[in-house]
Amino acid sequence: MAKACRRCHLIVDKNSNMCPICNTQDLSNEYTGEVFIIDNENSDVAKKIKIGKKGHYALRVR
Ligand SMILES: [Zn+2]
Repeated sequence: MAKACRRCHLIVDKNSNMCPICNTQDLSNEYTGEVFIIDNENSDVAKKIKIGKKGHYALRVR
């Protein structure tokens, strides 16, 4: 199981202890939903969860 960043929702590898975008260790093992943002400029999902970069994100992070 991977982890998700509580700040930006980026999904990171389970062996990683830090979010490469936020440089925070505020990661959670509990998240639901996954989304791949390819075109963040035109993605409603990206706007909804305030994603600013392309990548693999969790929809909800606990
Ligand atoms: Zn982050």
